[in-house]
Amino acid sequence: MQCPKCSAGMEVVEFQDIEIDRCLRCRGLWFDRLEKEDLKRLEGAGSIDIGVEKDGTEYNEMVFVECPKCFSILDQVEQEEPYLKYEYCRTCHGSFFDAGEFKAYISDSQVGEKS
Ligand SMILES: [Zn+2]
Ligand SMILES: [Zn+2]
Repeated sequence: MQCPKCSAGMEVVEFQDIEIDRCLRCRGLWFDRLEKEDLKRLEGAGSIDIGVEKDGTEYNEMVFVECPKCFSILDQVEQEEPYLKYEYCRTCHGSFFDAGEFKAYISDSQVGEKS
């Protein structure tokens, strides 16, 4: 698979039987449908996000990003608290996080209520 943002190759990274794709260059992460939700529940899942945020932010402004799986144009999703912007495919329901964004995405689940 090719990185939808920088076109470099992606490696498969496994975390507790969930396989995600990580870009060898920009360290962006591709999640198939529901994988990011599954990972969010697992402790230590942030370790797959090895990039530094500054590597990711230079790609944040890309508007037309093609889905690496089905080649639809990805939607940009913005969420508050923690603020982040990621790409989401309406067709195959995969999503792409720039380096550093996945850590932000799961961080709200690792503070607060559930111990
Ligand atoms: Zn990349
Ligand atoms: Zn897709």
